[in-house]
Amino acid sequence: MKTIGVIGGMSWESSAEYYRLLNRYAKARRGGHHNAPSLMVTVDFAPVEANQRAGDWHALGVQMADAAQQLERGGADIVLLATNTMHRVYEAIEAAIAVPFLHIADPTGEALRAAGIERVGLLGTRYTMEQSFYAGRLRDRFGLDTLIPDDEGRAQVHRIIYDELCHGIIESPSRQIYQNVIEDLKARGAQAVILGCTEITLLIRQEDSVLPVFDTTALHVQHAVDWAIEAVS
Ligand code: GLU
Repeated sequence: MKTIGVIGGMSWESSAEYYRLLNRYAKARRGGHHNAPSLMVTVDFAPVEANQRAGDWHALGVQMADAAQQLERGGADIVLLATNTMHRVYEAIEAAIAVPFLHIADPTGEALRAAGIERVGLLGTRYTMEQSFYAGRLRDRFGLDTLIPDDEGRAQVHRIIYDELCHGIIESPSRQIYQNVIEDLKARGAQAVILGCTEITLLIRQEDSVLPVFDTTALHVQHAVDWAIEAVS
């Protein structure tokens, strides 16, 4: 099995979930005492979050490229970026390494297409919901039509990610807010909802949602483990 490299720390609450799911899924596939050979580079989230707010995506691209190179030097055979938002700068990462980079939107787009979904709600940070890098890829590569929450819904979804989920705070009233947003997306025609932020899975499970959920964290991990098991060197 190949070695999976993860750029983590954004936030570490979701990186811990990546670590747990990588190993759990590898064990489910291979059995016995198998787990997933992996490496993780953990960046400090405080300056990353400040640069996001400042809109300094160039500096963030340089930083993510550097983290990816560290993973490659350490022996990673594939690189994952454990945050949807930072895929804003995925080109800088891809250009910096020779090993494959697995874009988080691709396993999600594939799963949605396989389920016959055409119109999907997208929850994530403001950057992911409002900028074109994420919905554009889903449209161009998978023909998906993306719906985002209204102004108030986007503000709430974004606030709960940064003020609660990234700090490991999981609150029932916030779950209710997400449930209301998902209901509104359904009323507007969404057939499913993307948990397009790697911490949302800590708050919303399938049983909490009136729409089928497509969890980017789990789908990203599963695709990476499948690749690592099946890749021929
Ligand atoms: N982990 C989150 C995501 O998937 C948000 C934190 C970040 O800004 O990277 O978008």
